[in-house]
Amino acid sequence: MRAVSIMYHDVLGEGEPFDASGFPGADADLYKVTREDFEAHLCALAGALADGVTDVLHIEDLQRGAEPVLLTFDDGGRGALLAADLLEERGWRGHFLVATDFIGHSTFLKRGEIRWLHERGHVIGSHSASHPLRMASLPMLKVREEWKRSVGELSSIIGERVRVASIPGGQYSRRVAEEAAGAGIEYLFTSEPVTRTWSVNGCMVLGRYTVQRRTAAQTVARIAQGEQLPRLSQYALWNLKKGLKRFGGDAYLRIRQKILGRRVRSVRSG
Ligand SMILES: [Zn+2]
Repeated sequence: MRAVSIMYHDVLGEGEPFDASGFPGADADLYKVTREDFEAHLCALAGALADGVTDVLHIEDLQRGAEPVLLTFDDGGRGALLAADLLEERGWRGHFLVATDFIGHSTFLKRGEIRWLHERGHVIGSHSASHPLRMASLPMLKVREEWKRSVGELSSIIGERVRVASIPGGQYSRRVAEEAAGAGIEYLFTSEPVTRTWSVNGCMVLGRYTVQRRTAAQTVARIAQGEQLPRLSQYALWNLKKGLKRFGGDAYLRIRQKILGRRVRSVRSG
């Protein structure tokens, strides 16, 4: 089956600074969208999609041939609350994927807020416990522990089994998915910008298209609607980044810092 999953992070309230929700820093800020922009995205999506958006726990109910559109929100920053309110104005629900070690920190959701989102019909899932950025490079015992600990914590909060997760940092491997399946995850979101889904030990793995703070509302709508050009451009960029990361993590990080306009710290001799 195919599905179009769109990956958001934090949604910032009116006039809120970037550090009001989620992780701090220029890297994280790239993915934070303002309320105004997010409302424009939802408006464009509503105009483009006759059936609106759905959630992963219901995609198998859809008629064959339909390409469901799913909205996901990574990290568990406080901006999830605003995102949920705005989704609900349209009768929509989202997937909130929480890095559990950060629950209760000042810019992250609290336990009661996570439960409240669940009660309102949003899907609560794991985004690991400690948010390691290179999950596929970790020892598998550590990956297992990340999934088990976060799933256990979230299950105790929502009082239900947690069946959904997303990979922090986007580094996917089959073993990461196998460990997620072993922890009871049935739907695992990656950051590969693809619509195809695949199965690993009974766990459905889904790609996602990334929204950054400068992504235009029309681009989101065109991706959701099935236009190839914006999908392919994300795919090309993703593979370029993957190549750079493989070539050398340090080189990739240097290039990334340059793109972000930050000076690379260098050690001076003498
Ligand atoms: Zn994350």
